[in-house]
Amino acid sequence: MEYRLDKRSGNELSVLGMGCMRLPRKGTGIDMQLTELILLEAFERGVNYFDTAYSYGGSEEALGEIVERNNLRQHVYIASKLPHGKCRTIDDVERLFTTSLERLRTDYLDYYLIHNIVMASQWQRLVDLGIDEWIAQKKESGAIRRIGFSFHGGMAEFRELLDAYDWDLVQIQYNYVNEHYQAGREGSELAASRGIPVVVMEPLLGGRLAAGLPEGTVHAFESAVPGRSPASWGLRWLFDQPQVTVVLSGMNSTEMLHENIDTAASTAPGSMTESERVAIREAKAAFEESFKVPCTGCNYCMPCSKGISIPSLFAAYNESFSLGWRTGFFHYMMSVGVTSGAPRLATSCVNCGACVKKCPQHINVPERMADVAHRLQPPGVNTALKLANPILSHW
Ligand code: SF4
Ligand code: SF4
Repeated sequence: MEYRLDKRSGNELSVLGMGCMRLPRKGTGIDMQLTELILLEAFERGVNYFDTAYSYGGSEEALGEIVERNNLRQHVYIASKLPHGKCRTIDDVERLFTTSLERLRTDYLDYYLIHNIVMASQWQRLVDLGIDEWIAQKKESGAIRRIGFSFHGGMAEFRELLDAYDWDLVQIQYNYVNEHYQAGREGSELAASRGIPVVVMEPLLGGRLAAGLPEGTVHAFESAVPGRSPASWGLRWLFDQPQVTVVLSGMNSTEMLHENIDTAASTAPGSMTESERVAIREAKAAFEESFKVPCTGCNYCMPCSKGISIPSLFAAYNESFSLGWRTGFFHYMMSVGVTSGAPRLATSCVNCGACVKKCPQHINVPERMADVAHRLQPPGVNTALKLANPILSHW
């Protein structure tokens, strides 16, 4: 296993981290026997970073039980996350944090992340509740070793967030298809340039980059290195980048674990060959052929006066064709900030035209926003949004 340095803490983190969002399930609960087998094998093969969250139904409890039973607490780094939408007062923050500690059977977290921020105003709301003083107290007592945030907004918001606080770690969605989506490459390099460790989530888009790829993508990979799996290609692309500290993978079988560990062990930063890079570019190009809006994610059109994350919405729209409607829809919902209580939807566009003048690709943004809304906000979804918004805003 390769370890990468968290320069802020001095922690040596395994470049392959265990994502505990999708632990193996049995019936209605977590398959504890299989989960324990995988987690222990991961640990024995050198994985030392385990990522969970208050909102990952049953994950904190399972991880806590397994870590305690096997006396692993001193040997692993545990990251969990605060569901900030549930916090109306600082007492809520304290209660949710204490619950996470209890579930994880520990009295400290190595990393505590504000979960799923999409815009800087969400962090500001927590600051108004007094969270910076609360964090200072927790760090002082040792209950929180390092603080960070996980992110699903656009690059402009990411930059704003980085400037807003002295973060110890960021967690972003990043993979070769999403190179310029959300924080993407630019965000990962910006965070790393400030000495902030970068944890990558969704390296294979929830498995979409492991199976069911377009024919051209598979052909590009197979022509370059026959027999190497698409999952290995996807992870290799990330391990190769020095600004990436940890890549989280939700490994729910020992086969997957073994393959990912082998990939991690054989990919040092900068080790990809030129022919491998060409293959990735060709694979990505085949993927992008199904893109409907030629948005490069350059962000030149931002900010939008209505707060719409234009490149993220176009990326989600394109994904709804290349990766399937459900994936595109899910990313659309994340990108509009559906859990924020004030989502900035494609239908929020007022056709002011300001963005059009700035777009180097000459995209008629408002016209294409109407396409996005037509595809990802059909009438049934609009009704569901209206009904669900009061509930979602508390997530
Ligand atoms: S045209 Fe629409 S998307 Fe573009 S800046 Fe105006 S409101 Fe935002
Ligand atoms: S300026 Fe154009 S290409 Fe760049 S992010 Fe905006 S819409 Fe996409």
